[in-house]
Amino acid sequence: MNYEAVIGLEIHVQINTKTKTFCGCSTEFGAPPNTHTCPVCLGLPGALPVLNEEVIKKGITAGLALSCKIVKHSVFARKNYFYPDLPKAYQISQYESPLNTGGYVVIKDESGVEKRIVITRAHLEEDAGKLIHDETPRGPSYIDFNRCGVPLLEIVTDPDIRTSEEAYRFLTAVKEIMQFTGVSGCNMEKGELRVDVNISMRAQGEDGFGVKQEIKNMNSFANVRRALDYEIKRQTRLIRSGEVLTQQTRLFDQNKNATVQMRTKEEAHDYRYFPDPDLVPVVIQEAFIGEIRKGLTELPEARRNRFVKEYSLSEYDAANLCSSLAIAQYFEDVAEAYKNPKKVANWILGEIMRVLNDRKIEIDEFQVTAPMLRELLELTDSGVISGKMAKGVFDEMVSSGMRANQVVDEKGLKQMSARGEIEAVIDEVLKVNEVAVSDYQSGKKNAFGFLIGQVMKKTGGRANPGLVNEILRSRMN
Ligand SMILES: [Zn+2]
Repeated sequence: MNYEAVIGLEIHVQINTKTKTFCGCSTEFGAPPNTHTCPVCLGLPGALPVLNEEVIKKGITAGLALSCKIVKHSVFARKNYFYPDLPKAYQISQYESPLNTGGYVVIKDESGVEKRIVITRAHLEEDAGKLIHDETPRGPSYIDFNRCGVPLLEIVTDPDIRTSEEAYRFLTAVKEIMQFTGVSGCNMEKGELRVDVNISMRAQGEDGFGVKQEIKNMNSFANVRRALDYEIKRQTRLIRSGEVLTQQTRLFDQNKNATVQMRTKEEAHDYRYFPDPDLVPVVIQEAFIGEIRKGLTELPEARRNRFVKEYSLSEYDAANLCSSLAIAQYFEDVAEAYKNPKKVANWILGEIMRVLNDRKIEIDEFQVTAPMLRELLELTDSGVISGKMAKGVFDEMVSSGMRANQVVDEKGLKQMSARGEIEAVIDEVLKVNEVAVSDYQSGKKNAFGFLIGQVMKKTGGRANPGLVNEILRSRMN
């Protein structure tokens, strides 16, 4: 018998706001521990939460971008549990009345076949603090409450996903949508996107569901893929050997490349949700949603299609350029005012990506800005430098931060394009290479290439190759 996986995802995305969900504390990452705290996010008695409007706006933005229905009357609820990183002993979340319901994201497989993954809900909640464990034996643990109260959007899917590859493609699509709409930076190293999966197996063709296993808190898409592949094998093996699976929560251990049991169903929490009496229901007017809809940016899929149409790019190039909002924007900043978009795409996906990967930086931290790249490309078009020299000029721009014009001036790299100048060099070369000249005239055609090489060498590679070729040919014949 063949088995198939039934997979659902829960994605926690940090909503990009300046201040926390219910207080005025900064959400900035990397501050010294416990410097972004106040009585509200520390859960001190008597402190009252006040909802940050920006959280609602971005929550609705996400809902619209995920094709959800925006719920006009949503409620914040208390999710009760005790843990040291949660000083109130409850997390403010949404339970029965989430902000967004019933959306979807379309993914494509490698042959372009589309599949719709349904989004059950996308609700708002606050993040907890962060525990830092001293690694020494019997060492203490510390708690940093800076993250406590930072706004999150939890996106929950229907169990529509069947393979680890589909999960990977869906996560990539969601990440792009969140970045393009400005809802979240989705920086996974900063924990701005975390994934829980639940997975069960069933016989192919069956409609029911098997016993599901949950794998918690993964912060890399590659790990999600590995964890799912591992679980598919593990569960199939157990089912085949006649074992009865029990519901479990598991963790993915990156070093072992395996999932390990964390707790069983008997240990599962009963959160005793109830509406938070300190917060009024969120009532949203249609006009408010309309305003946000109007301001919604172009989504990744639409932008890819436009790149193909407007700039005559291949789907492959368009997909790569739209892999991040910043790169798509950089491309457009150069290409909008430049005649050869394909050349811009090649530069970005070639030279620039190489530097960004080497230096592990984002394109908005890159010292060669869009106007600087355009200037470099224009220098090659006007023949001031050759295409080959452009690579060297670019490297110099990267290391020195100078503009292309400056580099060309300071290094004396201007391409030699004056006919008289080149003629003089060629005549000199012919004079000292009489053997090659007679070789050529006696039929050894590759002597021509040798002579070209000599001219380029003498001019430090600056001679315009087209002109050299033309003049040399006329001299020789
Ligand atoms: Zn606070």
